[in-house]
Amino acid sequence: MRLQILGCYAATPRTLSNPTAQVLEIKNHLFLIDYGEGTQVQLRKNKIKFSRIKHIFISHLHGDHFFGLPGLISTFRLLGRDKELHIHGPKGIKEAITLLMRLGNSWTNYPLLFHELESNEPQIIFEDENVEVTTIPLDHRIYTNGFLFREKESERKLDIRAVEKYSIDKVHYREIKRGKDFTLSNGELIPNTELTLDPPPPKSYAYCSDTGYFELIVPLIKDSDVLYHEATFLESESHLSSTTKHSTAKEAATIAREAGVGKLILGHFSTRYKNIERFKEEAQEIFDTVELADDGKIFEF
Ligand SMILES: [Zn+2]
Repeated sequence: MRLQILGCYAATPRTLSNPTAQVLEIKNHLFLIDYGEGTQVQLRKNKIKFSRIKHIFISHLHGDHFFGLPGLISTFRLLGRDKELHIHGPKGIKEAITLLMRLGNSWTNYPLLFHELESNEPQIIFEDENVEVTTIPLDHRIYTNGFLFREKESERKLDIRAVEKYSIDKVHYREIKRGKDFTLSNGELIPNTELTLDPPPPKSYAYCSDTGYFELIVPLIKDSDVLYHEATFLESESHLSSTTKHSTAKEAATIAREAGVGKLILGHFSTRYKNIERFKEEAQEIFDTVELADDGKIFEF
């Protein structure tokens, strides 16, 4: 998986920082996650191919997470897009976007498909043979979901030396990779474990923004390889985090520790802080493997 942060600050776009947006490359998909104002420029700057974007996941309807979307939808029309675009987001997102299109009499000439969410239970919202995306209901001032992106278990890997040793014909490789045992012409059964190697373990990425401290997500994101958790404030401003239903760096780190994730990425920093290194210092008192998001930064895992 390859995660690129396009924006990781709260509230407003500024000269050198952008509101929330990310792009996740997973098994040949290019998923956009949240889409704050100005993200289209970030896509251009980071040379992300517009034509590869087919699914956009919006956590909630605060402007710093979706105000860029009408612009992108319009650009796709101007570029002559004909492929489907799927928008996954809270109920109301269709009304918000289509109102703007109606007022401007500027309908898309490509299929624009909305998948509106309103459940407070986790649900699978995208699935194919390689990938599964599940919602992570969060605790914010309005209805909000995080998203868990999970690779599915891939096929077993052929142990070439083993299949050659038994002179197994290539036509059987497919079913062996799917886990079948093999019977030699003399009737001897070769167990699959002798012919294949374990595939790499499937990876997972949990995206959690925006939310107050919310322990109910721990079982949902348990053992994720990477967790992005918002940390809008430091503990010194915990009075603000509790009233606005955001988290502090310490709270994000506590969730990471309880869930036993591989790595914690902090983001959604309030623009009041001049030195965001302090977020890392505060989080590392609770959980070791912490990195700070930064606009343009890439994480591969
Ligand atoms: Zn918000």
